Amino acid sequence: MNKPSPQNILISACLLGSPVRYNGTDLLIKHPLLKQWENEGRLISICPEVAGGMPTPRAPAEIISKDGESVLLGNSHVIDNKGENVTKEFILGANKALELAQKHHCVAAILTERSPSCGSNIIYDGSFSNIQKVGAGVTASLLMKNGIKVFNQNQLDDLNNFLIL
Ligand code: SF4
Repeated sequence: MNKPSPQNILISACLLGSPVRYNGTDLLIKHPLLKQWENEGRLISICPEVAGGMPTPRAPAEIISKDGESVLLGNSHVIDNKGENVTKEFILGANKALELAQKHHCVAAILTERSPSCGSNIIYDGSFSNIQKVGAGVTASLLMKNGIKVFNQNQLDDLNNFLIL
């Protein structure tokens, strides 16, 4: 009998302790479920912004009006706080994340909330004033459009329920 294929999970690299955030820090989370999935070899890690060619550290960036979906449609941009347009890098990183997820047959992703790439429910509003709004980042939007269920780092129990359904 064939062994069932594991349900792999794409994960934001910063959540696994890689210091790839704009300010050179990580957002390591310690949770038994994450440890279990890591030990099972099911976590596929990527930082979409680094994969898109951005350095670490880098200037913080926000989506200027609207959300990641509108960036993918060419109706909005990602700008850093120095005014540089980094839309191209964000879209490239999102595509690389999708490619990696598809290559490893990931059924879901754990992405860092509030990031202009990885946020799935909340992002910043583009004013660089620390104002949050409902919306998804560029990578999260592209994954969702392609049928990959996205959870944030506070929804690991929800993800576990999704996996065992
Ligand atoms: S782009 Fe995503 S993985 Fe990379 S540092 Fe930001 S939140 Fe983490």
